[in-house]
Amino acid sequence: MLALAGAPLGLHCCFYDPAPASPASWYGQQQVGHYTDTEALEAWRIGLSCITYEFENVPVAAAELLNQHVPVYPPPIALSTAQDRLIEKQFFNQLGIATAPFVAVASLAELEQAVGQLGLPAILKTRRMGYDGKGQVLLRSEAELAEAWKAMAGQDLILEGFVRFDRELSIIAARSRSGEVACYPLVQNWHREGILRRSVVPVAAIPAALQAQAEAYAQRALAALGYVGVLAIELFQVGDLLLVNEMAPRVHNSGHWSIEGAETSQFEQHLRAMLGWPLGSVALRGSVAMINLIGRPPETDAVLAVEGAHLHLYDKLSRAGRKIGHITLRADDPELLWQRIAAIEALLPE
Ligand code: AMP
Repeated sequence: MLALAGAPLGLHCCFYDPAPASPASWYGQQQVGHYTDTEALEAWRIGLSCITYEFENVPVAAAELLNQHVPVYPPPIALSTAQDRLIEKQFFNQLGIATAPFVAVASLAELEQAVGQLGLPAILKTRRMGYDGKGQVLLRSEAELAEAWKAMAGQDLILEGFVRFDRELSIIAARSRSGEVACYPLVQNWHREGILRRSVVPVAAIPAALQAQAEAYAQRALAALGYVGVLAIELFQVGDLLLVNEMAPRVHNSGHWSIEGAETSQFEQHLRAMLGWPLGSVALRGSVAMINLIGRPPETDAVLAVEGAHLHLYDKLSRAGRKIGHITLRADDPELLWQRIAAIEALLPE
């Protein structure tokens, strides 16, 4: 999607991915290599003007190695901060930004103590490599602690207090090499089994103060990291307060709606930011939704028969729980948008 956004701007992308024939390889040359293969990385970066990543578990060492010769955006410090839930939460707290309460746990005894502190329910998460709800267990009762510990022991863990949020939101922000910042309107997100299913923007009855709070969080995080590119911050709304759940130092699934739904897509915005070009307008083009396609795709002709629907297939093999594409929906008003959401969701196989 970055390469597609870059093409009309005269940008050519090439890719580095450990898996041969990755979806992106249709849109530019792909180098197959492991992220730890320094020789392959060194050979690949020759001739590039800048480098980005769109997956946050790229090893920080690979980003740092490349950054010695070619600017890597977002900066590797953003990657290392986002890769560890403990460091990430401490980072936000140090900026005066609230998160769910948390305690790092290194033994069953520490887990029991942490549960005493945070109460139940609580969520035990791996500090690293978790995504789409993987690497986390919801703890409802004391009786579940020993088993959860056994299942997850051997990894660095964090216990998080369970947040009874009103809704889940995210803010997509961009900071350019010149320091210019742009924030999209807050997005509302719905997850099932830890996987993002649907995003809608604009969010119904969102007070201006909440948007301002989210933008202030983003501004602080962007400045603290010397950030360049698009940053997504996932938030829990609890009354008038926003708590940060986590950040993604990259273009983000909850911003995919912007391809057809905003004046400038998050992908184009990311490229503009990296190249030091002026950032584009974040204005919405009506009421917009994004529906993720998980596991298996719906029938293409049925999707395209829904007015305002734009299909994006990622050319990934079907697998249970895997994001294989998304649909953007646009409408002139929220009521019509929700009718279209219902029509599309009725077509989903999973
Ligand atoms: P994560 O991988 O941390 O983004 O978690 C995936 C989803 O699990 C979130 O989008 C929430 O729906 C839910 N979740 C994660 N952490 C918490 C928490 N501390 N309290 C309540 N729900 C949570």
